[in-house]
Amino acid sequence: MLSGLVSYSDSDDDKSEESNDCHISNNSDERGVKRSHSQEVNLETKKVKQSAGILPIPDTIKSLFADKSQPYQDDPEKHGGRIRSFAHEEGSWATHVHIPYAYDSRFENLVQELLLCLRPLDFKPIDNFHISLSRTVSLRHHWIKSLTDSLQAKARMLHKCYCEMVGVKLYTNDEKNRTFVAVEVQSHPDVLRDYILAVDSCLEEFGLQKYYKDPSFHLSVGWCVGDVLPDVLEEQRRQLQAVLDRHLHTDSDLKLIPVDQIQCKAGNKSFTFTLDT
Ligand code: AMP
Repeated sequence: MLSGLVSYSDSDDDKSEESNDCHISNNSDERGVKRSHSQEVNLETKKVKQSAGILPIPDTIKSLFADKSQPYQDDPEKHGGRIRSFAHEEGSWATHVHIPYAYDSRFENLVQELLLCLRPLDFKPIDNFHISLSRTVSLRHHWIKSLTDSLQAKARMLHKCYCEMVGVKLYTNDEKNRTFVAVEVQSHPDVLRDYILAVDSCLEEFGLQKYYKDPSFHLSVGWCVGDVLPDVLEEQRRQLQAVLDRHLHTDSDLKLIPVDQIQCKAGNKSFTFTLDT
């Protein structure tokens, strides 16, 4: 990996060892401690490199070339027990396209009540409410600019719309290691499908996986570890729908979600595309 570069540590320990090198003429140190054959060879190599006038590389630079062959160890504890959908890969960023939802306290109250219906199942609220327009895909870092340029160009041709909350639905991810409770949404006419076609065509350019063939648009409100679909009772499903109906009846404008932008998150970067028409 460091071909053509000389690698050695500039730590204090090694500096003192090197200064020893200068006045050691046999294979013992000043204290008379015998060095092993490999230690001898290392010392010789250093001397040869120094005499050849090759400059040492500081640790700070070496760390940039740190050994990447060690597989990344994911720790689900660090993200609430969630398990990654795909292995973490150096230089690749988890990327997702969605419609952000600017919620208010009325929606938060609805979410709380929905999660209560599912007890004793351990559903936690979602951090960022959104309507997904893509799966989470793994994007090479140097492709982020091209992908977002492409999304920007497509977004110019998409229209704003309103989505309507229509029901409560449960989903599992493809790996079936997470379950989601969500408010299903629809647009009239089916503008959300146009968004998917646009996003899919951008992802396809980069060989990335497209969205579901039969997309079911939704705002996830809570998630739980594992596939708990069989554990949700029929009575709980009825309650979930009744809670949504009651909230929408009391607050009829809660039902409509204005859509005027699309967002793409790639790692910690976020790109917003405004829909003008
Ligand atoms: P989201 O909150 O958008 O991440 O969606 C929650 C989960 O729903 C995702 O992990 C999807 O894999 C899953 N899902 C299952 N079936 C569908 C579908 N037909 N359309 C959209 N999402 C789905």
